[in-house]
Amino acid sequence: MKSLKAIFSLFVFCFSLIVCAQNNDVVIKTNKLSENIYMLEGQGGNIGISVGEDGIVMIDSQFAPLTPKILTAIKAISNKPIKFLINTHWHHDHVGGNENIKNEGAIIVAHDNVRKRMSVDQFDKYRNRTTKASPTKLPLVSFSDNITFHMNGEDIMVFHVDNAHTDGDAMIYFTNSNVLHMGDTYFQGKYPFIDLATGGSVNGYINAAKRALILIDDDTKIIPGHRNLSNKKELTAYLTMLETLKTRVLAEIKEGKTEEEVTNNETINKEYTALNYGDWFIKDAQIRQTFYRSLKEE
Ligand SMILES: [Zn+2]
Repeated sequence: MKSLKAIFSLFVFCFSLIVCAQNNDVVIKTNKLSENIYMLEGQGGNIGISVGEDGIVMIDSQFAPLTPKILTAIKAISNKPIKFLINTHWHHDHVGGNENIKNEGAIIVAHDNVRKRMSVDQFDKYRNRTTKASPTKLPLVSFSDNITFHMNGEDIMVFHVDNAHTDGDAMIYFTNSNVLHMGDTYFQGKYPFIDLATGGSVNGYINAAKRALILIDDDTKIIPGHRNLSNKKELTAYLTMLETLKTRVLAEIKEGKTEEEVTNNETINKEYTALNYGDWFIKDAQIRQTFYRSLKEE
């Protein structure tokens, strides 16, 4: 057991080094989505930016070492100050740069549970991993259900969805620009990470996709938490994938199958395996296990 732990620590250490080394090579890519909305890709969660007369609204901050590069990319778009930083949820690949952006003068805004979770250490029993509290990165303003910003010529609606990727998710809809940032309630083209340890659930994840689909139309540009810019057609197919897996895993549970049996049953998601949904962060067996664990609890 001891040696296993040592190997695990070594792995975590190496992984950290890899992340640090990679930070040096990360290039921030700027995508213009509308007259005043941009998506920035680097490492970690996709960043959304609204620019205009009233100043900059930023969504998520990726990792702290990337802040100088991110600020350079933002300054190339606008020389206005960053007024607000909205966090889609508490994960470190979305809030890592919070303190740096706060030091630029921005006010950080997020759901109540983001502030709560970032205030104390978080232990993930499924992955046996602790994330330390980050008191210097906390939102200064938090909300329970929704909040609207009236900036840069449009209403920017920020709304909470219950128990989806975590228990503190927010989506951000730019009403005139018709751009929706979904945070990690959407992993475009790949299986989602549903963080069961901090309040995520399969049913909540499905409801989040449905809520987004009610709001948007065929022209809406969707910024997913990770991966490529997307649209209603792709999100609709994604919802079908989620509901298909849910139906099949529920049937297995009803038949009395164990977690191990469901995790090993490749037929449950074989057409999505063929579409490479499982070749990214969450693998084919892992998504079956997550669906089992979440749906078994219901
Ligand atoms: Zn996340």
